[in-house]
Amino acid sequence: MERLMTIGEFARASRLSAKALRRYDELGLLTPTRVDAHSGYRYYAGTQVERARLVAWLRRIGMPLAEVRDVCALHATDPGSAARAVRAYWARVEAETAARRDLAASLADRLRGSTGMTTTVRPYGLISAALSERGRVRETNQDRARAGARLLAVADGYGEAGERAATAALAEIEALLPAPGVPEAGRRAGDLLNALEDAVRRADTVVGAAAPGSGTTLTAGVWTGDRLALAHVGDGRAYLLRDGVLVCLTRDHTVVQARVDAGELDAAEAAAHPDRALLLRALDGADGGPVPDLGLYDGRPGDRWLLCTDGLSAVVPEAEIHGVLAAGSGPDDTVRALVALAEGRGGPDNVSCVVADVVPAGS
Ligand code: MN
Repeated sequence: MERLMTIGEFARASRLSAKALRRYDELGLLTPTRVDAHSGYRYYAGTQVERARLVAWLRRIGMPLAEVRDVCALHATDPGSAARAVRAYWARVEAETAARRDLAASLADRLRGSTGMTTTVRPYGLISAALSERGRVRETNQDRARAGARLLAVADGYGEAGERAATAALAEIEALLPAPGVPEAGRRAGDLLNALEDAVRRADTVVGAAAPGSGTTLTAGVWTGDRLALAHVGDGRAYLLRDGVLVCLTRDHTVVQARVDAGELDAAEAAAHPDRALLLRALDGADGGPVPDLGLYDGRPGDRWLLCTDGLSAVVPEAEIHGVLAAGSGPDDTVRALVALAEGRGGPDNVSCVVADVVPAGS
């Protein structure tokens, strides 16, 4: 029989600390081959070193534990999928870093007292389409979706007056936009995010007054010409398809996602969880108001944005969504194809999609 390694020996071989090894054991990431029933000492087999080094490497690039567990599981059965998961994770990190870089530049401008009244560069346009359908089970459609040259948004209303809640939320975001034909002169990106945050708070108040007892999610992006300023509350999703890689830019504000983040559930358990629609944040006029996630994302020709409600993302696997987005059809055909995918899987919920392509100006 192979001699097992003590936790100290194994820590040195795998470049993980003994403390980290104990935590990974508790999380089910790396289970010792044997635990001494009397002393509680952990012992590892030499064959576990490879897995431990993979965990160490993934932690070194900053991957959250829940995703590390998913990648390790994929690595055991399908290394190609594990590689794709690492690439998708890194694309998301870069998108988030770019967003923070822009915000930092914007803040530095402001602190320097710059007036910010520079000519706004509007190099790129958006060609977009929206589609919202009732689905095959629900009696009404409480989702709302908007797509235009400046605004992309989805809202998923719930409760007796869910439709009114979703409609009111989108109206507040639309009110942010300058009148058609009026350029958005000199509005800095950071200011736009602040304006978006204020609009989300106003929307919350309006929803509370117009639809008491009901509420809505909201995922909305305002296009500046080269950036998408994004505000997000609830379990809608925003995705970016760039160079063939699909990145989800939002995190679901759900009880289940919070448990995934804490390492208590894996992605498959979360997808099948009966409470997966239970929201942690929504626009409902409740005390305190919602805190939206805000982000600023560079866009360039060839990029494609998707905003959708959970009527799509909860029933259609991401790989299928990716396939439809990358198939090369225009936004109109693509939103129809996405809604058809959800309905093909029973259409249990209202389903809404917004697809927008970044194109060179004047095209
Ligand atoms: Mn829904």
